[in-house]
Amino acid sequence: MTTMTLVHGDITRQSADVIVNAANSSLLGGGGVDGAIHRRGGPAILEECRRLRAARLGRGLPTGQAVATTAGELDARWVIHTVGAVWSAKEDRSDLLASCYRESLRLADELGARTVAFPAISTGVYRWPMDDAARIAVETVRNTPTAVEEVRFVLFDDRAYEAFARQLD
Ligand code: ADP
Repeated sequence: MTTMTLVHGDITRQSADVIVNAANSSLLGGGGVDGAIHRRGGPAILEECRRLRAARLGRGLPTGQAVATTAGELDARWVIHTVGAVWSAKEDRSDLLASCYRESLRLADELGARTVAFPAISTGVYRWPMDDAARIAVETVRNTPTAVEEVRFVLFDDRAYEAFARQLD
């Protein structure tokens, strides 16, 4: 049984087996939650991202995929970096956003993780409407078989927290 929980706050302050990063395909850092994770996690995370790029991700990590690295100085065992989908009004990209949650959980299972903290992927720079992103996140976790015991959504602001809370009601 997987329990979904909600926390209001900064994901870099969480203690969990896995902290998920809403990365971009370069894996070389960015703003938002990505910048915060690299700032607090220290240089070891970026070094491992660089090695992954050089070894097997020459063109970057595709949208909806996930890779794991060390968590550096974060209070976690791994960071899983996943590339959210940029919102499009013209094209339904929901399955790509759902894939971020599915692939992150699949990787967490491979690693033997029991607790996984997710941010609200794609709801910042990638402009996904919050309610729809929350629905996709919660439905996907609910419908993905996993041995992860706790999926914790860590929401940075009231708007995100309330959107996820409505989905869990
Ligand atoms: P994306 O490019 O996937 O949209 P962003 O990092 O721009 O990623 O935003 C994703 C979400 O993460 C937004 O809702 C943003 O408010 C939130 N966020 C930003 N910093 C943090 C943080 N330190 N902890 C948790 N969530 C954060």
